[in-house]
Amino acid sequence: MAGTGIFGGSFDPIHHGHLRIAEEFADALGLATVRLVPTANPPHRKGAVASDAARLAMCQLACEGNARLQVDDRELRREGVCYTIDTLVEIGAELGPEAPLTWLIGADSFLSLDRWHRWRELFDLGCLAVACRPGFDLVRWQERASAALLEEVLPRIQSLSVTPTYKMGTIALLPTTPLAISSTAIRAQLAAGHSARYLLPDAVLDYAERHLLYGPGK
Ligand code: ATP
Repeated sequence: MAGTGIFGGSFDPIHHGHLRIAEEFADALGLATVRLVPTANPPHRKGAVASDAARLAMCQLACEGNARLQVDDRELRREGVCYTIDTLVEIGAELGPEAPLTWLIGADSFLSLDRWHRWRELFDLGCLAVACRPGFDLVRWQERASAALLEEVLPRIQSLSVTPTYKMGTIALLPTTPLAISSTAIRAQLAAGHSARYLLPDAVLDYAERHLLYGPGK
């Protein structure tokens, strides 16, 4: 595979778990660029704690010094509810048909893929790569998956044993280094007045502290 990876998230705040899987995706799939897309008003989750501007600033700080990582703020600029499908359509149109797109998600999101807006159309726009921590078990995934996922998503999965090749509509399950870091846990540490150092880049933590984004009382 080559081309551009799209990695959406609340990034509230962005942390080393996100950055590491972006890096590993880029290597495994030969991506020239991974675009981090902070999401606004996620349709199936409650809103972010930090403002859009703060989450964007933290993403930009996190990507400094890494030429492969870019921040794409289009969802924060869009009015109303944002869907991944709209973002992929827009980026695909901008990059043109010769530039393959791969959207990157965590394994937890993979089980709820059939609840995404117009999810079937996502496969017409590029490939999907799923970050699988060690222990990810496709058999267990199938036991929990809906009928729609089993019928329409399972057949798209490429063999885990071969290097993924870019073919529109396919799914690559990629092993990733387990880093049990979450934004929720970081916010909880900071709210409790504890250190979150080494869970996220220093520049991001400094920004969060300076702007009192998640401190005690938040
Ligand atoms: P929160 O704790 O607020 O739910 P989060 O840490 O899961 O946040 P998101 O911004 O929601 O971060 O994540 C964006 C994507 O990154 C999701 O697909 C999620 O599965 C994935 N992700 C987040 N943290 C990790 C991690 N430590 N390792 C692998 N994938 C991760």
